[in-house]
Amino acid sequence: MNVLISACLMGLCTRFDGCSQPQDLSKLAGHVLIPVCPEQLGGLSTPRPPAEIQPNGRVITAQGVDVTRQYQHGAQQALHVYKACGCKAALLKARSPSCGVGQVYDGTFSGTLTTGDGVFVQLLKRQGMAVFTEHETDDLLAYIHNKEDTGV
Ligand code: SF4
Repeated sequence: MNVLISACLMGLCTRFDGCSQPQDLSKLAGHVLIPVCPEQLGGLSTPRPPAEIQPNGRVITAQGVDVTRQYQHGAQQALHVYKACGCKAALLKARSPSCGVGQVYDGTFSGTLTTGDGVFVQLLKRQGMAVFTEHETDDLLAYIHNKEDTGV
């Protein structure tokens, strides 16, 4: 099965700080992992200033620059890759303002988490796509096996 994956989880240095967050992806051997970084696809540089989603939904850097447009554009571009490659699910970096699922930082740059999704994940969910974090690879595998069993 084709699975979209946050590029930083594959060891690509796409994070805001120029680093990666490589994961042991051996459980997913046999599946095609397609890396994307929505923030790079939105035209942002690497490294780049950290940004967080504000309570009003805008994405603002620690220096106060509004980068919402770049985040939204990158999300649309990454969705295009998802569809063009026939992906059936996405494995995404937890807590990121683009890729976070269910929890993101609260906009105060204090390391405080709040309930919510990253900008890309908001878009994927609106499209009905299945999304998992790197802490949910077993859930992703169960989802894949269920899809394969039912031939969907
Ligand atoms: Fe990783 Fe997503 Fe952040 Fe890009 S936007 S560095 S893929 S978490």
